[in-house]
Amino acid sequence: MLDKSSDKLCQKCRKQANISFNYQGNYCKNCFIHIFEKRARKELKQLNTKQIILLDDGSIETEVIFSILKQIKGLNITKDSKKGIRATSADILTATFLEQLFTGQYIGKQDILLNSVSQEEILMYAAIKGIKGKIQHHPLLDAVKQLEQKYPGSTFSTAKSIHELQEL
Ligand SMILES: [Zn+2]
Repeated sequence: MLDKSSDKLCQKCRKQANISFNYQGNYCKNCFIHIFEKRARKELKQLNTKQIILLDDGSIETEVIFSILKQIKGLNITKDSKKGIRATSADILTATFLEQLFTGQYIGKQDILLNSVSQEEILMYAAIKGIKGKIQHHPLLDAVKQLEQKYPGSTFSTAKSIHELQEL
């Protein structure tokens, strides 16, 4: 949540924080943007390509990653409404993975972007930057959020495990 009258300090620069998350901590706006973009760009490195086609599903997740990656020199990034890499939050990735576990329908390794950040962080970033789009939904998203409340950090550690499983 955005809190202007906070007495909390940014955990990176120690100035007054105006953004706070349950699990990820407190940040000032500048540090939050910096860290968010750094994490998004790091995922690009893992894909190891100079040519990105993003699946254009009209989601805020896609618009956010597009706005970050299009600033990178030497990267050719386009959007396609029919095929391409999906941008999903850690929450949606976890929900999708749980669904595959429960239904036994494993769809295999897929390239995805933006899953090292939570949906909450994506919405915060989009609000600051004035980026618009529709919010991705998943039938198991509420369950993932409830798990996160009970076990803080579970969404990120699950998303990380999913990546490690895919590398096997
Ligand atoms: Zn800061």
